[in-house]
Amino acid sequence: MSKTHTVTLIPGDGIGPEVTDAVIRILDATGVKFQWERFIAGAEAFEKYQEYIPKELYASIERNRVALKGPVTTPVGGGFASINVTLRKKFELFANFRPIKNLPGLKTHWPGVDLIIVRENTEGEYVGLEHEVVPGVVESLKVITRKGSTRIAKFAFEYARKHGRRKIHAIHKANIMKMSDGLFLKCSREISADYPEITYGEHIIDNTCMQLVMNPYQYDTLLLENLYGDIVSDLCAGLVGGLGLVPGANLGTEAAIFEAVHGSAPDIAGKDIANPTALLQSAILMLRHIDESSAADKVEGALERVYAEKQSLTRDVGGSAGTKAFADAVVKAVETAG
Ligand code: NAD
Repeated sequence: MSKTHTVTLIPGDGIGPEVTDAVIRILDATGVKFQWERFIAGAEAFEKYQEYIPKELYASIERNRVALKGPVTTPVGGGFASINVTLRKKFELFANFRPIKNLPGLKTHWPGVDLIIVRENTEGEYVGLEHEVVPGVVESLKVITRKGSTRIAKFAFEYARKHGRRKIHAIHKANIMKMSDGLFLKCSREISADYPEITYGEHIIDNTCMQLVMNPYQYDTLLLENLYGDIVSDLCAGLVGGLGLVPGANLGTEAAIFEAVHGSAPDIAGKDIANPTALLQSAILMLRHIDESSAADKVEGALERVYAEKQSLTRDVGGSAGTKAFADAVVKAVETAG
């Protein structure tokens, strides 16, 4: 009898529940057995439980060590702290892994992009230490540590070694932030010395953004601090067709949370137009993580077939199908896969 995987599920808000439903249906079609422990988080959870992250949600991730998560809205300029950042910090999910690749048949300015983004996920500006010194003066702390920088660099180089990647660029602004980004670079350089087969380079963040849109092929793996990684991920999503496509994995030693790069997209929520591909590709990463590689291959093949056929694509990638119709097409492709 095949194993049942118990996984924590956070559908999120905005487009989250729609794309999550689509992905769950596709995963069900693979025949892999899941038991989903479903939780709300953020504003919705506060209304119901007076907690933004219910205690039971923390306990569920602790127990299962793997979660699939839709996007959760974070208020701008005030209100509660980001649920996403809080979960990453709580479980020390220090590596945010985001593969950026074209899908077949999807016309973009740059075909054949194949980039890996490795984003430090727990420190930098995202430690959330801000205060008003005097009225009109706000201080925001950026925390970079030797421990945090070394472990993310090690993660990037280990991944590159294991998967035959050729180059890693550490991306920084150490010309201005000499101490913080300077330490990040120093640690990256030190780790790079243990991986002589991988070419190591350093580029300044502003130049990198220009280089990426002019010629993304010059890069292979990008190693970035938290904020730079957040911004460059969206830029790279734009290279391959947009935020509807790009997956992510938040990885640590205690747990792993799989989620798309995109947010809750309130502008298109509840309209059956969101593209579930990004969350589906995150779920493919999750299937590999839980040793269900043949199911991962099956879903990947089905997804590629639906893109190559171009009949059931969502609006963001030039089609006219809704979220549900796209999911129906992928389910069918999974079911008819050999
Ligand atoms: P966003 O990623 O939600 O949307 C940016 C643009 O991309 C919008 O035009 C949107 O319609 C489009 N888009 C995003 N996902 C799409 C999809 N699957 N299919 C089709 N189009 C898609 O970014 P935003 O508008 O800046 O942020 C909205 C909210 O999401 C904010 O509260 C933000 O804090 C939150 N957010 C959450 C996460 C997360 O949960 N991990 C990540 C990023 C942003």
